[in-house]
Amino acid sequence: IGTFGISKDITERKMSEESLRVQAERLKLQIKEINQLQEKLQEQATHDTLTGLNNRRIMDQILTKQIKVCRQLKQPFSILVIDIDNFKNINDKFGHLVGDAILEEFGRKIRSLTRADDFSCRLGGDEILLAFHKMAGPEIINKAEIIRKALSELVITKDGRRISATVSIGIASFPKHGTSIKELIACADEALYKAKKRGRNQVALAEFQELTESGSVV
Ligand code: GH3
Ligand code: MG
Repeated sequence: IGTFGISKDITERKMSEESLRVQAERLKLQIKEINQLQEKLQEQATHDTLTGLNNRRIMDQILTKQIKVCRQLKQPFSILVIDIDNFKNINDKFGHLVGDAILEEFGRKIRSLTRADDFSCRLGGDEILLAFHKMAGPEIINKAEIIRKALSELVITKDGRRISATVSIGIASFPKHGTSIKELIACADEALYKAKKRGRNQVALAEFQELTESGSVV
C-alpha cells in the first residue's frame, strides 16, 4: 500500500508539472500573439495602409517636436507638400485601382528616397508631406527636384498599357517661411498652388514671410 501510495503521488506530481509546463507554453504563445497584435495596432494607428507612410494623426506630434529641436539648435528644417497632377483624370480614365496602385508605388519610392530621420506622411487624398531636418535653400530645392523626377519616372502597367503620373511640389522652410507646422503647411500649400498654376510637374518655393518680433508670420 505504501509503495502504491508513493508512486501515485509521484505520478500525480509529474502530471501536474506537465500540465503547468503546457500552460506556461500556452501563456508564452498568447503573450507573443498579444505583442504582435499590439505592434500591428500601433502600425495601423500611425500609418496609412495604401502608401505605407505615416498618417496625418501622428504628423503634428512629430513635426512640432522637430521644430522645437531645430529652434534650440538653430538649425533649418523644410517641408515639401506633394500633390499628384490631374489625379482625378487618371482615376476616371484608368479606374480607381490604377489610382491606388500609383499611390502605393509613390509611397514605396518615397520610402526608398528618404532616410530614417526624415519624416513622410500621407496628408490625405493625393497629397503627401515630407520633412527634412537641416535642409533649406538650394539643397531642399534640389532634393524636391530629385523626388519630382523619380516619381514621374514610375510606370504602372495595366492591360499592356503603361501609365505614369507627375507631381507638383510646394516647399516651405523653418524659420524663413513659418515658425509652426500650421504656418509651414499653409506656405507650402501656397507654393504648391503656384506650381500648379505655372503648368504642374514642377517645384515651387514659398514666398519669403517677414517675421514680427514675437516670431510669428505677418
Ligand atoms: P490637380 O492637378 O489640380 O491636383 O488635379 P487633381 O485631379 O489631382 O485634383 P485634386 O488633387 O483636387 O484631386 C484629388 C483626387 O485624388 C480626388 C480623388 O479622385 C483622388 N483620390 C483621393 N484619394 C484617393 C485614393 O485613395 N485612391 C484613388 N485612386 N484616388 C484618390
Ligand atoms: Mg492632385
